[in-house]
Amino acid sequence: MNIIPLNSWFEDFKCDPLLIAGPCSAETEEQVIEIASQLKENAPPSVYRAGLWKPRTRPGSFNGVGMKGLKWLIRVKEEFGFKVTVEVASPRHVEACLKAGIDIFWVGARSVSNPFSVDEIAEALQGVDVPVMIKNPLNPDIDLWIGAIERVARAGVTRIAAIHRGFSPFERTRYRNMPKWEIPIELRRRISNLPVLCDPSHMAGDAILVNELAQKAMDLNVHGLMTEVHHDPPNALSDNKQQLTPDRYREMINRLIIRKPNVDDPGSINDLEELRNQVDSIDFQIVELISGRMKISDQLGDYKYRNNVAVLQMERWMEILRTRIKHSAKLGIDTDFAEKLLKLFHQESIRRQTEVMRKLKARANGSGNNTVGD
Ligand code: PEP
Ligand code: MN
Repeated sequence: MNIIPLNSWFEDFKCDPLLIAGPCSAETEEQVIEIASQLKENAPPSVYRAGLWKPRTRPGSFNGVGMKGLKWLIRVKEEFGFKVTVEVASPRHVEACLKAGIDIFWVGARSVSNPFSVDEIAEALQGVDVPVMIKNPLNPDIDLWIGAIERVARAGVTRIAAIHRGFSPFERTRYRNMPKWEIPIELRRRISNLPVLCDPSHMAGDAILVNELAQKAMDLNVHGLMTEVHHDPPNALSDNKQQLTPDRYREMINRLIIRKPNVDDPGSINDLEELRNQVDSIDFQIVELISGRMKISDQLGDYKYRNNVAVLQMERWMEILRTRIKHSAKLGIDTDFAEKLLKLFHQESIRRQTEVMRKLKARANGSGNNTVGD
């Protein structure tokens, strides 16, 4: 793929690593300027971000100031010297941003999840060659991510980067979005000249977790960070839990250990490190999955108590063992090991169900104020 390295995106572009910061959303002209000014004082990024059109999960939330925010960002560009970036989700956004002089566009996770949207955006980008950053789709589908990158590249865009912002979990996890680090690693393996940044803010979902994710990303040699920064996070109109104050952002950047920020050396991840990172990521996912499995066991306990069903049904358990062991064998897992593991899960599940039933019974008998699941 014809991709221009980050350090050639603009003249004198500081990108070692590339730091992008700014609020989740532009809210007012004063807010946009205040954050830019505090960033300039604390830890000036190369690029200032702000969303103007906000894709919100539920209707009725603040969905951005729209077109009128464009001129606030142009003020940031002129008064503070930052490049500015905005999320574009439709041809109308692309046209407005091009006309206003926005330097860099990004395509958000929700748009990337929908090839029709990406096609429309790519069509509007045809022949303009503005830099475009493409976030990962909501679901951990690397081909969908690569598909979006290819669609944008085919439109003639040569300044392309990917942004890893984590993947929507079905169950609540420690992070708002699961990192699944193995996916961006694989992306870099498949498109070796593609710069990959990390957005630790959307991954974390909580300001106190942003630091650790930013460091983890740097340990994986990402080429930059996009971080949400707001001068008054609790009163932010979107993503108020995850935004850092400019002060906290400066602390994070100063503490960041940047091991080998080499934009032109995609192969610089050490093999052993890379394998260990994949193991770490998968182990955490296993723990998350076990936690989800056990929560369902609690619900089973609840159901069985209310419907007067015994905890253990032997036939069901034999069926579980048989089908899982067969599947494990198919996937090359030693069957003795699989059997041991399944028995452990089952024992723990039975223990939890019994505990839930005991508490419900105690409650029904009016003895004590035990609650289920405490
Ligand atoms: C954002 O960056 O504000 C945003 C909406 O991100 P994402 O598309 O990753 O959810
Ligand atoms: Mn946001």
